[in-house]
Amino acid sequence: MRVQFWGAARTVTGSMHLLEVGGRKILLDCGLYQGRRKEAFERNRSLPFDASEIDAVILSHAHIDHSGNLPSLLRAGFRGGIYSTSATRDLCAYMLVDSAHLQEHDVRFVNKRRKKQGKKLFEPLYTKEDALEALKLFRSVDYDRSFEPVRGVSVQFRDAGHILGSAIVVLDMKENGRNSRLVFSGDVGRRGLPILRDPQIAEGADYLIMESTYGDRTHESSGSAEELLRQAVADIVRRGGRLLIPAFAVGRSQEIVYRLNQLWEAGELPRVDVFVDSPLAVNATDVFRLHPECYDSEYIETLQTDADHDPLGFAGLRYVRSTEGSRKLNDLKEPAVIISASGMCEGGRILHHLRHHAVDPKSVVLFVSFQAEHTLGRKILEGLNPVRIYGEEYEIRAAVRKAEGYSAHADRTELLSWAARMQERGDMKHVFLVHGEEEGLEALASGLREQGAADVRIPERGQRFEL
Ligand SMILES: [Zn+2]
Repeated sequence: MRVQFWGAARTVTGSMHLLEVGGRKILLDCGLYQGRRKEAFERNRSLPFDASEIDAVILSHAHIDHSGNLPSLLRAGFRGGIYSTSATRDLCAYMLVDSAHLQEHDVRFVNKRRKKQGKKLFEPLYTKEDALEALKLFRSVDYDRSFEPVRGVSVQFRDAGHILGSAIVVLDMKENGRNSRLVFSGDVGRRGLPILRDPQIAEGADYLIMESTYGDRTHESSGSAEELLRQAVADIVRRGGRLLIPAFAVGRSQEIVYRLNQLWEAGELPRVDVFVDSPLAVNATDVFRLHPECYDSEYIETLQTDADHDPLGFAGLRYVRSTEGSRKLNDLKEPAVIISASGMCEGGRILHHLRHHAVDPKSVVLFVSFQAEHTLGRKILEGLNPVRIYGEEYEIRAAVRKAEGYSAHADRTELLSWAARMQERGDMKHVFLVHGEEEGLEALASGLREQGAADVRIPERGQRFEL
């Protein structure tokens, strides 16, 4: 048995780990690497292994940095099964097509310039057709049911409590008469997140591959995040500006809407128009409504007690699908809240809203998620000015704020206690830390060592370990 780390190795994007058991190859996640455009394109296109030799993919959850390179895998010759929970599959149905749309749109934009310069034109990383083909390979499995993607490997999904359908992957492997259990954390969620259940653990793991996004940080309480949101709405209403919330279409957008719904129901939201401007967020909200098997008990109760029995909708809230509807928001003069994707401002309609509204000192940009290195979101958050959007420079004059309490990732304390509960119930031999930046990885590694973890490694990209 061996594992090789091909993505999210000393970084937070492009989750992809290759497992070999008894001559069969399983890929854990197949995420899109996001970062500097050229580097990202190269890395996503040239897979570091022969895709036709992969027997199965096991997908922890639908976030694009975990699922978004599946169409490339297919293009490169993969024909095996893609295993996920049914909510993950349904979210991917929208997310992969949306990602293909962004790839095509991006390349069209770049090619326009290249054509003028007489340079060779690029092909998109993948197309909508590739995404649809990838969807045909999905096989959905419920939480806590065993399945055998390849001979000698039995797998179960446990709830990761991170986004709808997210899973911790438990693999029981048999090779040369030896049994061992490997647990892949995917992204670990948090206790008490709205809509979702709390993260589960998996006992008896010999090997653990664990995410480290917030390995060096502790989140503010969600109460203070809620206060920041309430305050930001109050500020733009008073000043006559717009509140821009760059949010992942899946998960964070629904969470923000749910929080605003709570404020609305409690009479704490001023009369203000709220727009969710992202076709993907609208579609994802439909998927949320389709999967009550993923809800926690609090959300099930809210469904009964909410005034309109819809915790993801309230008077004043508009979901915007059409381009035309989105364009109209550019000219907004009255105060409004615009929730739009992408969450790290790397594409999507949020770019247009930043161009039109973040240049206005009356406006507020409120970040509600992690901003990876080199992304536009990170640059704005760090106060870099001017910033480039679609090749032009813009001076960000809006107030820039960050509400960390909204994270769907466990923080340092939560990660350590999650790992400790797993350690207690087994004899863990190795822990591999992935999906983190340098500081997070190192800090989590020393935290884990302090609490007695046997052997903690931080793999480099391409590094291989015999298990
Ligand atoms: Zn995630």
